[in-house]
Amino acid sequence: MSALSQRDPDVAGIIEAERTRQVECLELIASENYASAAVLEATGSVFTNKYAEGYSGKRYYAGNQQSDRVETLAIDRALQLFKADHANVQPTSGAEANMAAYFAMVQPGDTIMGLSLDQGGHLTHGSPVNFSGRLYNFVPYTVDRESETLDMAAIRVMALETKPKVIVAGYTAYPRAIDFAAFGEIAKECGAVLMADMSHIAGLVAAGEHQSPVPYAGVVTTTTHKSLRGPRGALILSTGDMAEAIDKAVFPGTQGGPHMHTIAGKAVAFGEALKPEFKDYAHQIVVNAAALAEGLLEGGLRLVSGGTDNHLILVDCNSVGISGLKAQNALQGSGIITNKNTIPNDQRSPFVTSGLRLGTPALTSRGMRPDEMKRTAAWICRVLKDPDGDGVRETVRQEVGEFARMYPVPGITDAVGV
Ligand SMILES: *Cc1c(COP(=O)(O)O)cnc(C)c1O
Repeated sequence: MSALSQRDPDVAGIIEAERTRQVECLELIASENYASAAVLEATGSVFTNKYAEGYSGKRYYAGNQQSDRVETLAIDRALQLFKADHANVQPTSGAEANMAAYFAMVQPGDTIMGLSLDQGGHLTHGSPVNFSGRLYNFVPYTVDRESETLDMAAIRVMALETKPKVIVAGYTAYPRAIDFAAFGEIAKECGAVLMADMSHIAGLVAAGEHQSPVPYAGVVTTTTHKSLRGPRGALILSTGDMAEAIDKAVFPGTQGGPHMHTIAGKAVAFGEALKPEFKDYAHQIVVNAAALAEGLLEGGLRLVSGGTDNHLILVDCNSVGISGLKAQNALQGSGIITNKNTIPNDQRSPFVTSGLRLGTPALTSRGMRPDEMKRTAAWICRVLKDPDGDGVRETVRQEVGEFARMYPVPGITDAVGV
């Protein structure tokens, strides 16, 4: 019996139920993944207890010999993985990383260009309800109406007209490849810094499955828990000349004591991503997304931009006459976990939406391949075409449960798995 189940059966019971849910459902939320047992162990370690404000060799508290070692190791591995000049591993989440990045580069009121939220950008890329939209003068760019992809010529014209200090590239719901080199050219031409937010695609970048923004961007932010499959947290990479400003913006600019337990988990995750197996994993994510997209198209669904180049698919639920909310709920009742999402030029509200976002990082971590993606696509199509059919939901839920249990889950049913 674990210490937790003995001392607090209430919380232990909830965690056990969550574990079961993660094993029995098909996890298709594009931003989620299963961290390895090793990452979970480091993240749940005694580093939880340590205060380490400052940086390695320059801490405000005593007793930080081991904190220095683990933070330095995490930094060295991040630099090796992404071939950057400088890394800060302290940001506690993607939103904080972006806040620190802006803090390092611009003053309140300055102009920044970012993709608008309803077209696939992130809240922290200038949404009016977020600190970013309140503190800075965000000029939103959009995707092309016809192709639903980024129109670099239009983005260039807007950048030359509005003269932003920063251009943000990198998204939460964009299924296509991002041309960071082209963004870099535009930034140079209009005198802006390119800030790449590669939160979603960091695992693909690490493995060479997506163009790296590092050679073209002054600052690169990323979460560590999405396709990179690490602990919940973030990382900022930068060129050498930005290093001091970035470190100051993280601490003391926007954060207090770093979460050393998470930094230990990041060190483990970067180590895992440096192994040759991770390249195979990231490649499989992309192959699986293509197979899933093909299955959905064969089933008659329309996909935003017509398909995918990465780990992510955006379904236009109008093609089956329902909202994203209805699709999400019907699938949840069938054991398939997704999220509703706006699509470009959505006619529905952000709470209802017309889209459904799907991603393959988590299922790929369970060892699934294109055959499994085809079965998953068939279940999704069946449910979305009859979202009110109780019988359909119940049948699919049973089939999905039996199917899902056959695949080990890293960190849960596969204690030594990665
Ligand atoms: C997920 C994400 C974030 C925010 O990460 P949190 O850890 O949830 O704060 C920021 N930017 C992009 C592009 C993301 O996808």
